[in-house]
Amino acid sequence: MPAVYCGGDLAFGPRIVIEAEADGKRAALAIHEYLGGGAVPRSRGRFRDVGLNRGGDRYDRIPRQVIPTVAVQRRTGFREVEEPYGDEQGRIEASRCLTCNVETVFDSERCILCSGCVDICPEGCLSLVPVSRLTGGPELDAVRAALGADAGAGAIVKDEERCIRCGLCMERCPTGAITMEALELDESPQTALGLFHERMGEVQRG
Ligand code: SF4
Ligand code: SF4
Repeated sequence: MPAVYCGGDLAFGPRIVIEAEADGKRAALAIHEYLGGGAVPRSRGRFRDVGLNRGGDRYDRIPRQVIPTVAVQRRTGFREVEEPYGDEQGRIEASRCLTCNVETVFDSERCILCSGCVDICPEGCLSLVPVSRLTGGPELDAVRAALGADAGAGAIVKDEERCIRCGLCMERCPTGAITMEALELDESPQTALGLFHERMGEVQRG
């Protein structure tokens, strides 16, 4: 329906919360455009080398913070039972973040296909496979074309969903072909993120 926006579980069924947040962002941009604010340029991302990422260690060592709940005798009707974290608790829980915006970035020019990263990965998410066994779209075809007759060339394939960003592959790599890099979004005023911060500032000031 025109001018009706829907996302999250209601539109797509149960998924992880970050996908519902992305739906909210898309809807906000569409509503902004619909109401005459014009199209907002997409925030551009850039990668920043962050060295060794040990977010996974913090996650293990710091216990999960217990969510405060309403006393049993006050639970009436449809009142929400869970309450927000306090400031201190919120900070502790946030410090358990797995920082999954940190990615392993592979430099194919440096890789000697030694398989060291594949061997050390604790989650088994890396594989060394012949390029000839890969299937994919035009981008992969372009890579194949660039490799020319080298049908025996190898490639490192990664299952992103299993990676815990431990950085062991980076430490193991003998040629420095792997770096751990954080994806950061451009917050300049003309981007969606910049616009969001500007509007939040207006709301707080107002
Ligand atoms: S960061 Fe850790 S889990 Fe991810 S690919 Fe490297 S070794 Fe495997
Ligand atoms: S450890 Fe480094 S050089 Fe060896 S296969 Fe992995 S990325 Fe390539």
